[in-house]
Order: sequence, then C-alpha cells, then structure tokens
Amino acid sequence: RAAGSWTRCSGSRLLRSAAVSDVVSVEFGREDIRRRIEELGRTITGDYEGRAPVLISVLKGGSVFLADLMREIALPIAIDYMSISRYGGAAESLGRVRIVKDLDHDIGGRDVIVVEDIVDTGLTLSYLISVLDSREPASVEVCALLDKSVRRIVPLDLRYRGFDCPDEFVVGYGLDFEERFRNVPDILAVHDMDALRADPDVLLSFLPRIEPVPSEG
Ligand code: 5GP
Repeated sequence: RAAGSWTRCSGSRLLRSAAVSDVVSVEFGREDIRRRIEELGRTITGDYEGRAPVLISVLKGGSVFLADLMREIALPIAIDYMSISRYGGAAESLGRVRIVKDLDHDIGGRDVIVVEDIVDTGLTLSYLISVLDSREPASVEVCALLDKSVRRIVPLDLRYRGFDCPDEFVVGYGLDFEERFRNVPDILAVHDMDALRADPDVLLSFLPRIEPVPSEG
C-alpha cells in the first residue's frame, strides 16, 4: 500500500514517508496477529477441554485482544472485565493498583484466564494475580499478547504468550498513545518518542482506511 502511493507522490512526500519510519513502524502486522491468536485459541481450547474458563480482561488495552481471542476458543467460556488505575509510576507503587471497576461475577472455584495486552515490568499483573488468588479460583493462568520480557522485574509464569516484544513503546491493537490510537489495526513500535510527542499526527496514516462509498450514477 505504502509503496504504491509513494510512487505517485511528489519528492517531498517521499521524504516525509521515510521520516515517518524513523519515528514509528509496524512491528506486528494484523495478519500475523490474527494467525497467532488463532493458534493461541486452539491451544487454550485443547488445554481446557471439558471446562468452562472465565476470561478476564483488564480495561482498556486488553479489550481488542479479548474480543478476537474469545472467538477462537471453542468452549463455553464466560468473560468479565476489570478496570484499574495506577498509583503514580508502576515502579514507585510496586504495581499496587486501585480497582476502579471490579468483576461482575464471583470467580471462586472457577478456572480463570487473565487476558492481557502487554506485560512489561510485570508489577501490575503480579498484583492483580494476588488479588484474584485471594478469591480462591480453581486456577489462574495468563494469556498475554505481548511479552516485553527484557523489562521484567517480577518473575511471572505466562502460560500463553503471543509475541516477544522489543523494548520499545508499542501502540495499536488496543494499546494507546496518550489515550488515542487504540484503533490502529497493526501493532506499531515507536522508535523516536520525542518526535512522536512533537507530532502525534504521524500516527494518522496507520488508522484503518475507509474507502468512500462510490456514488451511484
Ligand atoms: P507493567 O506493570 O507490566 O509494567 O505494565 C503493564 C501495563 O503498562 C500494560 O497493561 C499497559 O497498559 C502499559 N504498557 C506497558 N508497556 C506499554 C507499551 O509499550 N505501550 C502501551 N501503550 N502501554 C504499555
């Protein structure tokens, strides 16, 4: 798509396109994401045969992943959401979070799968797991789409993992840049955060492309 449009563009637009890739580029494309989620769904379906796990997503980042993952699981699952807010930086708060919206249902005796967009230091998730564990579920496992393993502070056992993620800020597929751009269909890696903060509009070209409806006539 980009290559095709570049050939039709002026020299200055070409330069701009090259500069964009220094700031941000596609790290995981939508088709790779789709295929990987299909595999994860198949594995979970096999592992939980005969059971009905509850998938818990942490708003808002995990919601896109949950929406796609649950449709690849051939089991009578339930879903539930939690919303949390962090106390200052993750490191200072040791991952402690305030639960802004709790689960709607009791998880006592249930098989729980926490569906996360990304695990970075692991502080947030390890705190959440301790909260969930205290409610005495039958089991708790984690399914994370992205694992920024090099940044891990708290060792965590991620039973299901989509991709190992480079140590760069990522945006798209539910992950935000300053609360926007969660609807970018691919996962982008930010190479130059200062440049992106100065001109967040470089992300506009990664939004879904909606073709206008051809007019009748
Ligand atoms: P952790 O406690 O593991 O350090 O933080 C995990 C949370 O931080 C994720 O659920 C996500 O909300 C946020 N986060 C961590 N890395 C990134 C990133 O690269 N991009 C975005 N948009 N959010 C991130």
